[in-house]
Amino acid sequence: MKVIETKDITYEYPDGTKALEKVNFMAEEGKIVALLGPNGAGKSTLFLHFNGILRPSSGAVVIDGENVNYNKKELMKIRQKVGIVFQNPDDQLFAPTVVEDVAFGPMNMGLPKDEVESRVKEALSRVGMEGFEKKPPHHLSGGQKKRVAIAGILAMKPKIMVLDEPTSGLDPKGASQILRLLYQLNTEGMTIVISTHDVDLVPIYASKVYIISEGKIIKQGTASEVFEDV
Ligand code: ADP
Ligand code: ADP
Repeated sequence: MKVIETKDITYEYPDGTKALEKVNFMAEEGKIVALLGPNGAGKSTLFLHFNGILRPSSGAVVIDGENVNYNKKELMKIRQKVGIVFQNPDDQLFAPTVVEDVAFGPMNMGLPKDEVESRVKEALSRVGMEGFEKKPPHHLSGGQKKRVAIAGILAMKPKIMVLDEPTSGLDPKGASQILRLLYQLNTEGMTIVISTHDVDLVPIYASKVYIISEGKIIKQGTASEVFEDV
């Protein structure tokens, strides 16, 4: 079952920058899929199509077998299904405290207060951030901010989690902790889509790897297929 599929999507920013050209990308349910490419290649732009933040200039985005419908109500549904963790946690964390930040998503879903509380607790524990509930997110280190941003998405229990460069800027220990968490979530059934500009640990975990350059997918396959001639 394909949970994310883009069909020939092209995207041009309002200023005329052509960021994606006829991109065909697919993530199968329950897999880890990695998107590799240098800075500026179009990784963030592609990911922003997966929950309707961006709408392709041409082509189609299919989530869970349905073409994305860009009305407000349908977008809400997609955003509960596809959780995106942005590259820069400062784009995501804006509440005065960690606990309020992580509670924001599940509260917006209209869940009862005790359910929100238990989800927040579980999410903070999964990312190893218990004890930081009352801290303002901007007082945290880069790695801690990333973990809180991930917790905020986890608390919504999305079917698919999309992470834009989740290991960038982290030390090797922080990066491997995050990768281990993602691997664990995947073994529990979550589909994971992850981008990186480093040929780091990411591809080892991925069952499928795409390489993007200047807005085009230039290679795809298993990690060993993609890297055989590098
Ligand atoms: P990556 O995530 O791989 O670093 P991006 O998707 O951020 O790449 O960028 C792809 C291209 O689109 C780059 O040329 C970038 O400068 C451009 N771009 C990104 N965001 C915008 C924007 N808001 N307006 C105009 N151009 C943008
Ligand atoms: P990334 O490479 O991961 O997209 P960037 O540092 O390139 O991160 O971009 C940071 C922010 O600036 C993003 O919100 C992106 O959309 C925006 N941006 C990137 N390139 C441009 C551009 N050429 N024009 C306008 N905004 C841009």
